[in-house]
Amino acid sequence: MPGAVSRRGPLPAGAEAAYDVVVVGAGVVGCAVARALARHPLRVALVDAADDVGEGTSKANTAILHTGFDASPGTLEAGLVRTGHRLLTAYAAETGIPVEPVGALLVAWDEEQRAALPGLAAKAARNGHRATRLLGPDELRHREPRLGPGALGALSVPGESVICPWSTPLAYASQAVLNGTDLHLGCRVTSVGTPGPGAPHRLTTTRGTLTARHLVNACGLYADRFDALLGVADSTVTPRRGQLLVHGRAARDLVRHILLPVPGPLGKGVLVAPTVYGNVLVGPTAEDLDDRTATGTTADGLAGLRERGARIVPGLADEEVTAVYAGLRAATGREDYRCAAHPALRYVTVGGIRSTGLSASLALAEHVLGLLAECGLRAGPERPLAPVRMPDPRAARPDRDPARRAVVCHCEHVTRGALLAALASPVPPAGPGGLRRRTRAGAGDCQGTHCGAAVRALLEEHGKDGRR
Ligand SMILES: Cc1cc2nc3c(=O)[nH]c(=O)nc-3n(C[C@H](O)[C@H](O)[C@H](O)COP(=O)(O)OP(=O)(O)OC[C@H]3O[C@@H](n4cnc5c(N)ncnc54)[C@H](O)[C@@H]3O)c2cc1C
Repeated sequence: MPGAVSRRGPLPAGAEAAYDVVVVGAGVVGCAVARALARHPLRVALVDAADDVGEGTSKANTAILHTGFDASPGTLEAGLVRTGHRLLTAYAAETGIPVEPVGALLVAWDEEQRAALPGLAAKAARNGHRATRLLGPDELRHREPRLGPGALGALSVPGESVICPWSTPLAYASQAVLNGTDLHLGCRVTSVGTPGPGAPHRLTTTRGTLTARHLVNACGLYADRFDALLGVADSTVTPRRGQLLVHGRAARDLVRHILLPVPGPLGKGVLVAPTVYGNVLVGPTAEDLDDRTATGTTADGLAGLRERGARIVPGLADEEVTAVYAGLRAATGREDYRCAAHPALRYVTVGGIRSTGLSASLALAEHVLGLLAECGLRAGPERPLAPVRMPDPRAARPDRDPARRAVVCHCEHVTRGALLAALASPVPPAGPGGLRRRTRAGAGDCQGTHCGAAVRALLEEHGKDGRR
């Protein structure tokens, strides 16, 4: 039986509010964990302070399904990104999440960078990625004709892909809900009553109380603060902002691959990449901040990206920027994830998932199941999950009903039928932003200037059943 999805009002009481496992945080990581738990005969709840899934860092990243070729060999991250790439590639094919295996070119712009490429190829091989290849300047230009002047060579990394970052957590959450997980949104956990021996955790939330025999912290930027609720002090999160700009579809033909810089001390650096929806992204910046809510962009940051993008692909200088955004990486000062089992507390932290969490999400979920077992969770027999199929916003949706065939968003060709289908889906959107991530309505060149009012009217009309 499907689980309940709620966004407001008091939480269920009594036995209904007693769970075997509560996963706190419905980003891509928490949603993947909830989906993995749904394979077992357990009562599971996924809760989030926000009013939709994937509203934290998971909605604002670079949308790359990494192979893990450049991870630090031997780290937990290296192993989980590599496995996650394989698992998510297969899962995307099964569920219809848009993915394009365009491959990456790690471009050297000076002699020092060119000299670093063989070492990066060797590192990729240590990470199990042996298909990389060094390219000279001529072959590079042949493969990427619009690249700026001065590129000396590249490392070609097949397998690096672009993916839809929004349908991924949504697919996980939808599948979890369809297989019995309760999803409580608008539900911030504010305190956790420490359990006595054998007693469940008592979670106080902004919507009431829940109990959980086992608890998973997938709180992203707030993982350290959630740890503190249980008296755990393993790490401190420092938000590392990444600003990005989005070029419209007219720019898509300028770029064939994900164009990566040779990495520096602050991470992967600024890249130029196509998206599965035909845009071109430039970014992200890397700025260490104190403010965990600083998801705004800055004039300086965007000007820097404009300049950098035009150096990598000069044609981008003439292309319109249709959107800008920023996300915050949950950096913890360690170049690896911080996943920990706390058996005495029957508690697992999945923290420090900085810049690869989308790619590693399915492997992280399997890892968390192992950590929960260390904490004494007897998950019981595994059953196959009822499948989900995500609508592909790029595909034409034939509809017999002429009223549903009417186009609402002309930039992205989104029909009324597609919007109504999203509003009737297992995890419906809470507002225009959620509807845009599910259907692309308002995500085109005009950014909703023309369709915004019609989209809001549809939400008003059809989103009143208390589930949104
Ligand atoms: C600029 C940028 C580019 C990136 N590019 C890529 C990329 O190309 N490929 C890739 O694989 N990864 C990339 N990443 C990393 C990836 O986006 C993250 O690793 C991933 O989204 C982290 O997911 P999460 O579930 O851990 O966190 P989040 O998505 O932040 O989810 C945590 C959730 O916990 C909730 N929460 C917190 N505290 C509470 C509480 N007390 N009660 C209830 N709910 C709570 C929050 O509301 C939030 O929804 C990038 C990140 C950034 C910032």
